[in-house]
Amino acid sequence: MPYYADLHCHSTASDGSDAPARVVERAKAAGLKVLALTDHDTTAGVPEAIAAGNNLGVKVLPGTELTCYVEGKEVHVLGYGLDYDNDQLKEHCARFQEARLRRAREIGERLAAHGVPVDMDKVMAEADGGVVGRPHVARALVEAGHVKDFQEAFDLYLAEGKPCAVGKMPVTAQECVKVIKEAGGIAVMAHPYLGPRVKMIPALLQAGAVGIEVWHSAQDEAQSAELQVLAEERGLLKTAGSDCHGTIKGCEPILGKWGLQEQQWRKVEKALEKTWWGASTTDG
Ligand code: AMP
Ligand code: FE
Ligand code: FE
Ligand code: ZN
Repeated sequence: MPYYADLHCHSTASDGSDAPARVVERAKAAGLKVLALTDHDTTAGVPEAIAAGNNLGVKVLPGTELTCYVEGKEVHVLGYGLDYDNDQLKEHCARFQEARLRRAREIGERLAAHGVPVDMDKVMAEADGGVVGRPHVARALVEAGHVKDFQEAFDLYLAEGKPCAVGKMPVTAQECVKVIKEAGGIAVMAHPYLGPRVKMIPALLQAGAVGIEVWHSAQDEAQSAELQVLAEERGLLKTAGSDCHGTIKGCEPILGKWGLQEQQWRKVEKALEKTWWGASTTDG
């Protein structure tokens, strides 16, 4: 049976390969009833996704995946049900985007210094005004023939700790959760086992996150089982998502391969009642 809700995916508004409307078409084809679009540090793709969802009968939950740092390590925070047009949120994202552009230039300089230059103007152009990320650079490294595939680009140059990795704007978990809450949303810690960042769960909860992403394409069954127990012990929301980036990683899209069954979605939906989205969709 297909999953009911996939609460984590990316579009061309950040580092996914498909336009927001195309992502929603894929969701429909995968049998999903609910999709949260969670582009990195932006909500720019949300209006297009909602419009497509209205046409196709897929409920699109406004979302984002904000970057923050805990003890110097990057942690991702999912924001759900937030007003995607909120001024403070947009300002936060605009600042982050500028910092990402500077960072992309620095990554480009480092790659050139390591003898694997890529045309950064082209990379920026291909990001098409959206949020520039390492996946765009990885794709360019593949196209330039410097690496055999997307993963090798990360393993040799771009992954954390590798020579051409550059940090992003140093936002704290508190700031990040505050931005989400003030835009009327709820915060959920993304993929705790990616990294892994499990040790940072208490810091995220302390900052005001109310849930954790229990099921995710990078987490195995044992890890998810452990996160599920933790969430139940602490009364946290349990979310799930594929984290599909389309085909940018050189694989088939995985939209809808991870997600929540309807019963689990209803619990999340209940918690969303008090968000901006909940208020705007249940007006009697
Ligand atoms: P950025 O937003 O520039 O930090 O890029 C983050 C994205 O890069 C993530 O969403 C992943 O898609 C990808 N990524 C990060 N680290 C790795 C890694 N070690 N291997 C493969 N992909 C990665
Ligand atoms: Fe990404
Ligand atoms: Fe992430
Ligand atoms: Zn993601």
